[in-house]
Amino acid sequence: MTISMIVGNWKMNTTVDEAEALATQIACGVSDDSNVGVVVCPPFISLVAVQSTLKNSGISLGAQDVHHEVSGAFTGAVSTNMLVNICQYVIVGHSERRSIFRESDAAVNLKVKAVLTAGMTPILCIGESLEEREGGSAEAVVESQLRLGLEGVEAGAGIVVAYEPVWAIGTGRSASPEIAQAMMAHIRQTLVAIGGEEAAAEVSLLYGGSVNAGNVGGYMEQADINGALVGGASLNAESFVEIVRVAAGTG
Ligand code: PEP
Repeated sequence: MTISMIVGNWKMNTTVDEAEALATQIACGVSDDSNVGVVVCPPFISLVAVQSTLKNSGISLGAQDVHHEVSGAFTGAVSTNMLVNICQYVIVGHSERRSIFRESDAAVNLKVKAVLTAGMTPILCIGESLEEREGGSAEAVVESQLRLGLEGVEAGAGIVVAYEPVWAIGTGRSASPEIAQAMMAHIRQTLVAIGGEEAAAEVSLLYGGSVNAGNVGGYMEQADINGALVGGASLNAESFVEIVRVAAGTG
């Protein structure tokens, strides 16, 4: 069975104190028997503090990135070894990592493998640019990112894929539920081709790109969408909690 989930990506926002306060407010608003899994991904420096804040809350913790090596001379980097006792999830290949930090599909694949080897769940982000969509190559681009990102990996339970069209991230211009579903169906079919029906059905597919409490319901109704990866709206506890409630059908 696929797990429904709402993931908050706080990006490079919040000091440690602010992260603790935000986590506290979110934990107060989210009921721990919700049928939707909730994950928050604070900056690395706040993970330990937020872990303690969220203890017994039912909310899981994720990191926003990781290095593929376990240890060594990689100044500034953080490894799976350091995260494994703190996080259950790691976002890998976010479009900001791909564009600003020039991460290739091969680098993303190494990270996916490192996260799985450590026993955590990768949230593999894929998505086309506006130019690629307008040029008619959106499906091909997304399929290629998916196949390369999962190369050598058993793509079933324990993998989360987030489809985030780059043109919808932080722009307020969300993809319509129909556009998102069409791409999700293609992603699901590609997963079937990679690992078979049963395994493909176990992968949680999240939509990301200007999700808010007003539009999340439309995504959750789609056959191949199991949740959302939320950026901006996850920084406001009230908005994020409302997104979770709508996704759970209790909003
Ligand atoms: C994201 O950063 O993954 C994202 C989807 O951001 P936003 O919700 O702000 O568009």
